[in-house]
Amino acid sequence: MAPYGAYRDNQAWVITMRQLSGLHHVTAIADDPQRNVDFYLHTLGLRLVKQTVNFDAPDVYHLYYGDEAGSPGTILTFFPWPGAPRGRRGAGQVTTTSFSVPEGALGWWKRHLERLGVRVGEVRTRSGEDALSLYDPDGLAVELVARPGTDPRPPWERGPIPAEHAIRGLHSVTLTETGYEKTAELLTGRLGFRLAEEGGDRFRFALADGSPSTMVDVICSPEAPQGLVAAGTVHHVAWRTPDDSQQVSWREDLVDAGLNVTPIIDRQYFHSIYFREPGGVLFEIATDPPGFAIDEPLMELGRRLRLPPWLEPRREEIERHLPPLKVPDPYEEIERAGGEASG
Ligand code: ZN
Repeated sequence: MAPYGAYRDNQAWVITMRQLSGLHHVTAIADDPQRNVDFYLHTLGLRLVKQTVNFDAPDVYHLYYGDEAGSPGTILTFFPWPGAPRGRRGAGQVTTTSFSVPEGALGWWKRHLERLGVRVGEVRTRSGEDALSLYDPDGLAVELVARPGTDPRPPWERGPIPAEHAIRGLHSVTLTETGYEKTAELLTGRLGFRLAEEGGDRFRFALADGSPSTMVDVICSPEAPQGLVAAGTVHHVAWRTPDDSQQVSWREDLVDAGLNVTPIIDRQYFHSIYFREPGGVLFEIATDPPGFAIDEPLMELGRRLRLPPWLEPRREEIERHLPPLKVPDPYEEIERAGGEASG
């Protein structure tokens, strides 16, 4: 394997055998699962690519949304917990999850979201990008970001949003921290990010070329209240690693750096390690393979409840406890967002 990562440790450059390739997924908490499906599928136009359960608490769904195949870097997942209390956005959390949309699409999106009664802000420009903030039905802060130049990732062609406006995948996440130095040190040290931009209390770190899905913004907010993880907040953010051998190397290196890292956990669609960064945000490093087509064909993704082999013997009991979920077949019955909002 060719060495291709590097970080500075004291005065010396350390060359490593691996580099993170960007965001893998973001996982958040929701309340009602059907309302969650309706919003992310119909309103934002993501595809439900997997319907499974929280492997650590199988009485709760785990719903994965993304592009057609659920490619790493396009994925937002939820644990929908009916009746869950509302959380609080604050320090030690991912406080905004941003998606990339084509340049010039935000006017359409604002009209589309307002027409559907979504709580939405004004389009504003920051770091040379236009951003539109909105809140999902549980109050989760989401942003649509249009940056000059083309995001080469294809939209989900069969989704309800016209392809010229549709979401291309994740753009970035924003972390809120009461102090940012130690987080910055980990990001630009072992994790291999570079400081791409800073202004006021906001710092942008990027991997590689800083294209959409390779960025993390850190807001330093000493007065921010501690975040409370429950409905409407993010649980963790996952970064991509291309294979299992690099993940083993990541784990060794992060343990060596004094971080408390979990063993490698089989998440069926990827393999994961978790650790808290110094500001308190739960980070995950997840492998690209095997992906969502491991247990159902591409055209069937997300239509039926899928369980990992070790939970399959408990299917009957698990299904009995889960609320029923209505998911349209995107290859037949999906309703397209029409011309009312365009122009
Ligand atoms: Zn995860």
